[in-house]
Amino acid sequence: MDANGGKDMGKVLIIGAGGVGNVVVHKCAQVPEVFEQIVLASRTMEKCRRIAESVQAATGRRIRLAKVDADDSRQVVRLIERFKPDIVINVALPYQDLSIMDACLKTSVHYLDTANYEPPFKPQFEYKWQWAYHKDYKKKGIMGLLGCGFDPGVTNVFCAYAQKHLFDQIHYIDIVDCNAGEHGHPFATNFNPEINIREVTQPGKYWEEGRWIKVDPMSVSMDIDYPQVGPRKSYLLYHEELESLVRHIKGLKRIRFWMTFSDQYLTHLKVLQNLGLTRIDPIEFEGKKIVPLKFLKALLPDPASLGPTYKGKTCIGCIIQGTKDGKTRSVMLYNVCDHQAAYKQVKAQAVSYTTGVPAMIGAKQILEGKWQGKGVFNVEQLDPDPFMEDLPKYGLPWHMLEGKVL
Ligand code: NDP
Repeated sequence: MDANGGKDMGKVLIIGAGGVGNVVVHKCAQVPEVFEQIVLASRTMEKCRRIAESVQAATGRRIRLAKVDADDSRQVVRLIERFKPDIVINVALPYQDLSIMDACLKTSVHYLDTANYEPPFKPQFEYKWQWAYHKDYKKKGIMGLLGCGFDPGVTNVFCAYAQKHLFDQIHYIDIVDCNAGEHGHPFATNFNPEINIREVTQPGKYWEEGRWIKVDPMSVSMDIDYPQVGPRKSYLLYHEELESLVRHIKGLKRIRFWMTFSDQYLTHLKVLQNLGLTRIDPIEFEGKKIVPLKFLKALLPDPASLGPTYKGKTCIGCIIQGTKDGKTRSVMLYNVCDHQAAYKQVKAQAVSYTTGVPAMIGAKQILEGKWQGKGVFNVEQLDPDPFMEDLPKYGLPWHMLEGKVL
């Protein structure tokens, strides 16, 4: 029973049994007072079984499993009708966002994801398709929470926290994402290879004084000094949270996103691009249509398998400048996560870990009634305080560095 009128609550349906799905299931299992029942559904049952065994060994909890093709909204509706969850956490791929959102709408169940919907054959990284559900979700009285991983997710919460507590006016935001880990493979991506490569091969883009400025992919870089890691070459990328933060952080003059890449990663990527292996348009091969990037994905290491050998740290945060009490102020809010420590705890590398923990915390806020709202929301539209309180409790301590500028 919950505190909200004695209604049974705390049944979560998690869709997607990849690197991030594994962490979400482990983390929900660690909070039985909120997540009383956990169902994991995905396309490949074997992956679901492996996660369930690992969670049972770690926590003693039994996870219910189901097979679903989430591209088919009717299958998701049937799944929801069978298990009657209070919330669906979507950690499958961005291609499934709309079919899962449709199913939640039809069955009046809250929805949460960690990545914006992507049309299969054109990288867009835009929220417009999901924002279009706002009215219908509002009418049904349910909440759709978009982008509740680390970036987007925690980075949006950092901005909301800065807006609420640290600044009278925010002028500049730089989101900085450093993975200083080594996995020992010549080339691998830290999350789903298809989505990762689509993201980093599109043109870079940032927002300044009311307009979007495009740059060639990986053409703008600088050394950024990351706490606990040191200086790392970082590249300007477009990242989806820029679109929602521009809407919701008032008085902003500029927002950019930076990510580190090793020379080895970039050299491999260049070669793969030159060979046409990162193309997402279907090509004819021996009488069959194949998408080169999907074929490449099948050859690359599964991100969920990188954990055992991954060493080093991630450091992700926001460097924010603005004014407080008439004076200029600059702070960095950030988290540092250790790959080996994450693996020890939930058998995942730090990129999956830093995505899965916030998804659990976001779902927890909704089930506890701390985040309430009818419609579709980005994370920065909600009260950052309970989320910031939970971050260190559930494995993502955050820190603040005063005076940090880029
Ligand atoms: P993986 O590729 O490791 O896992 C994806 C999972 O989704 C797999 O289990 C896959 O099944 C399942 N899946 C794919 N298609 C379907 C379908 N049609 N029906 C049911 N299940 C399906 O990805 P990750 O775990 O690395 O990433 C998961 C999500 O998290 C992605 O959307 C990614 O963009 C997002 N992400 C967000 C971040 C953030 O900070 N906000 C950071 C990192 C990732 P199968 O095993 O059969 O392939």
